[in-house]
Amino acid sequence: MSGPQTLILGAGHAGVQTAAALRAKGHTARLVLIDQQAALPYERPPLSKDVLVKDVPSPLLRKEAFYAERGIELLRGVATESIDRAASVVRMADGRSIGYERLVLATGSLPRALPVPGAGLEGVVTLRTERDALRIRDGLRAGARLVVIGAGYVGLEVAAAAVSRGAEVTVLEREPRVLARVASPEVSSRVRSLHESHGVRFLMECGVTAIEGDGRVRRVLTTQGRAIDADLVVAGIGVVAADELARAAGLACDNGILVDEDCRTSDPSVHAIGDVARFHHPLLGAQVRLECIANAMAQADRVAEALLGRERTPYDIPWFWSVQYDARLQSVGFWQDGSDTVVRGAPAQGRFSVLHLRGPRLAAIETMGMGGDFIAARKLIRSGASLRRDSLADASIPLSSLALTEDTPCPN
Ligand code: NAP
Repeated sequence: MSGPQTLILGAGHAGVQTAAALRAKGHTARLVLIDQQAALPYERPPLSKDVLVKDVPSPLLRKEAFYAERGIELLRGVATESIDRAASVVRMADGRSIGYERLVLATGSLPRALPVPGAGLEGVVTLRTERDALRIRDGLRAGARLVVIGAGYVGLEVAAAAVSRGAEVTVLEREPRVLARVASPEVSSRVRSLHESHGVRFLMECGVTAIEGDGRVRRVLTTQGRAIDADLVVAGIGVVAADELARAAGLACDNGILVDEDCRTSDPSVHAIGDVARFHHPLLGAQVRLECIANAMAQADRVAEALLGRERTPYDIPWFWSVQYDARLQSVGFWQDGSDTVVRGAPAQGRFSVLHLRGPRLAAIETMGMGGDFIAARKLIRSGASLRRDSLADASIPLSSLALTEDTPCPN
C-alpha cells in the first residue's frame, strides 16, 4: 500500500479533487470520502446560473462509477459529529467511528444567516445546495416579486436568473456599490447598469431590519424605512468558514482553519483545504481564505502531493468568473482599492478590461466580454513582465503584445 489511510470530510470541489488526485498520483491505501449531503457530489457554480435559468440539474463532479472504480469509499448523507484527534477517529452521527492516518478537512463555507426577525419565514432562502437552488427556482414565476439581499456574486447571479424567468427584482445592498468586496468601482458601475437595463431595482447603502409575513414572507422592512412587498427573499450576504468541527477538536482557527504551505493544520495529521482554510499566499504575501474553485482545486492537488511526499505544484494566481445575462466577467490576481488602473475597451458597450498595475507590471485584471485579455493577463501576471504603459488603454492592440520584458518570473 502506498500513502497513508486517508479520510476526507466534505465532497465539494476540494474534497472530490483530493480523492481523485491522490489516486491519480499513486495513493493505494484506504481512502474514504464523507459528505453530509445524500446526493452524488455535484458542481456548485451552476446553482446560481443554469440550474435557476434552465430546468437542468447541476452536473456531477464525477460519474457515479468513478468512486468505485478507484476504490474511493464515498459515504453520502452522513453527518460528522466530532473529530477525536487522540484516537485518530472521526465519529459520525449514526454511531459509526472511522479511523484515519491522515484527515483532510474540505468542509467549505456556509451562507451567513440573516440576523433579523422573520428570517425563518417560508420563502426566505440562502443558496448553498442544489436543494436551495430548486427552492429558489420554484419561486421564480413570471411576475413573482423577488427581493435579493446582498449584491455579491450570489445576489447578482440570482437576480439575472430571476429576470430571465420573468420575476420583478429588487436588490438591497448595504455597501454603496455592487460587488464591493470583489470588483473595482469601474466594474461595479457597469454591472449595476447592466442589471438596471434589465429592469432590476437597486437600493444601495440599505440593510434589512425585519422580514414580515404570515408563515410565508410578505414584505421586507429596510433600514431606509421602506416596506418592499416580496414573494421570495434570497439572502446572499456572504459566507463563513465551516470550521466548527475543527474548532471543537482544538485545531487552531481564526476566520477559517489555519494551515501552512502544505495545508497542514496545527495537528500534522490533519490538513484543511478550500474555502475553510486560511493560509499565507506566497504571491500575495498575506494570510487569505479564498472562496473560489481555482483555489479549492489547487489546494486539493497540493495536499495530495504533500500526503504522498511528491514535489509541490507552485501556487498559481487565483481567478474568478461570473455570468450575468449574456455578460461574462472574469478576473485574475490581487489588487487593493486605490490601485493604479488602466481601462481598455468600451465600458458603455459592456466590453472592457480594468488593468491593475504595480509599477510597470500587471498585478490583476478584471474583464467583461474580453476573454482574450483575460487569457493574456494570466500569462503576463505569471511571467512578471514589464508592460508598455503608453499603449495599454488601446484595446485594438493585443494585450499579449505589450510585454517589454519577461525578466521577473513570479516568486514561489
Ligand atoms: P459576498 O461576495 O460577500 O457579498 C455579499 C454582499 O452582501 C456584501 O456586499 C455585503 O456587504 C452585503 N451584505 C451583507 N449583509 C447585508 C445586509 N444585511 N443587507 C444588505 N447587504 C448585506 O457574498 P455572496 O455573494 O453571498 O457570495 C458568497 C460566496 O460565494 C462568495 O465567496 C462568492 O465569491 C461565492 N460565489 C462566487 C460566484 C462566482 O465566482 N461566480 C458565484 C456565486 C457565489 P458587507 O461587505 O458590508 O458585509
